Amino acid sequence: MTDATPSFPDIVPEPIGDGTPLAELTTMRVGGRAERILVARSGEDLVSRALELWEAGEPWLLLGGGSNTVVHDDGFPGTVLLVRNTGAAPIADPDLAPGRIRLRVQAGHDWDHLVAACVDRGWSGVEALSGIPGLAGAAPVQNIGAYGQELSDVLHSIEFLDRELGEVRRIPAAELGLGYRDSAIKQGMAGVVLSIDLLLADGAAESAGARGDAGGDAEAPILSAPVFYGQLADALGVTVGDRVPIRELRSSVLRLRASKGMVLDPEDHDSWSSGSFFTNPIVSEHFARTLPEGAPRFPVQPAGRAEEGPAVTSFAELAMGHPLRIPAPAPERQVKLSAAWLIEHAGVRHGFRLPGSGAAISDKHTLAITNRGAATADDVAQLARFVVQRVQQEFGVILAPEPNLYGLEL
Ligand SMILES: Cc1cc2nc3c(=O)[nH]c(=O)nc-3n(C[C@H](O)[C@H](O)[C@H](O)COP(=O)(O)OP(=O)(O)OC[C@H]3O[C@@H](n4cnc5c(N)ncnc54)[C@H](O)[C@@H]3O)c2cc1C
Repeated sequence: MTDATPSFPDIVPEPIGDGTPLAELTTMRVGGRAERILVARSGEDLVSRALELWEAGEPWLLLGGGSNTVVHDDGFPGTVLLVRNTGAAPIADPDLAPGRIRLRVQAGHDWDHLVAACVDRGWSGVEALSGIPGLAGAAPVQNIGAYGQELSDVLHSIEFLDRELGEVRRIPAAELGLGYRDSAIKQGMAGVVLSIDLLLADGAAESAGARGDAGGDAEAPILSAPVFYGQLADALGVTVGDRVPIRELRSSVLRLRASKGMVLDPEDHDSWSSGSFFTNPIVSEHFARTLPEGAPRFPVQPAGRAEEGPAVTSFAELAMGHPLRIPAPAPERQVKLSAAWLIEHAGVRHGFRLPGSGAAISDKHTLAITNRGAATADDVAQLARFVVQRVQQEFGVILAPEPNLYGLEL
């Protein structure tokens, strides 16, 4: 496949006038109007409109699919810029290892359509991220992840319009501070992701190679990346670390997600949400010991030591006038807790709703705050605050929201 490959088909709901409430542009389906809505349908358009907005100095909000954004009922006091530049195609890269593909995806491309197209072509690396709503440009913002895969596993680089520099630059994934639902962009690196480059494995080339080497079955299915999530492995009837036919993996992920209301479905109010409303808290191992025995704890990769080399200056070195080196303290070990477990064990159950509220905890998943049809942003924020308070009172842990909140505070 070459650069001339036609763009993947993509469907983005047709917007949009200045009067459109943000409730119609976000999956939580709450939020009032913006003063102005602009739509950028190409990368050039995105750059020129963003530069104009920055020049004018008015408040601006970049919106992709609105699946991780909750806006106040009074709306947004400025301009909303909708990212709608679509397309995806492999690009040439002399450094690519054999059997690898570098795929450039425009920021406004629908994420799950992209995953579906990759699975169809037998390109693996994103199949466990099937069914995540939203557009490609927002994927690095919180380093989307699910079922044992994260964007950071396959992200090569992004093309970024840097607000500070006022120019477009390519940023390697390693410089984006990607972590658990986190990135430098989320932490305030202002600008616009114009496109993302992914490094995928070409399963078709791999199976052809295997057939050539071993004379194998011409009809052998293309395999997924290894399955690294216990619940998904169970659903597939395999062991963690196994590989399965890539299409089977996608179907299994979509089934699991739908059973939790985590696939957008207009008929299913459990999916009128922003997905998980809270991130799993990361706390010190010491603090985690204060929690009840049953509280799930997952080890977090330790951060590297602050300093390398000898921990202290020797007497001989001191005598020779070398400066005193104090040993860097060992970083405290951290563990990730389950926000869902904390919420449930603080007494907030599936379907919980405050009196008179249009928002409720999902019937299928305690981590999701959902709109039952007529919720306001205020209903959502009140329920979120209630959950935070209950968990804090019960366990001393302060939950942090995963979606980006505009005009709302918890
Ligand atoms: C039902 C459901 C299930 C979900 N499941 C998951 C899941 O399993 N894993 C997961 O990680 N997330 C999940 N999410 C959250 C969400 O889908 C992802 O975070 C997604 O990447 C958001 O994309 P979006 O285009 O909708 O972002 P938006 O909500 O439009 O934007 C999110 C943030 O990114 C900024 N932004 C958007 N586009 C750009 C750009 N081009 N450049 C710079 N900044 C930009 C926005 O300003 C905003 O701050 C789920 C959400 C829902 C509703």
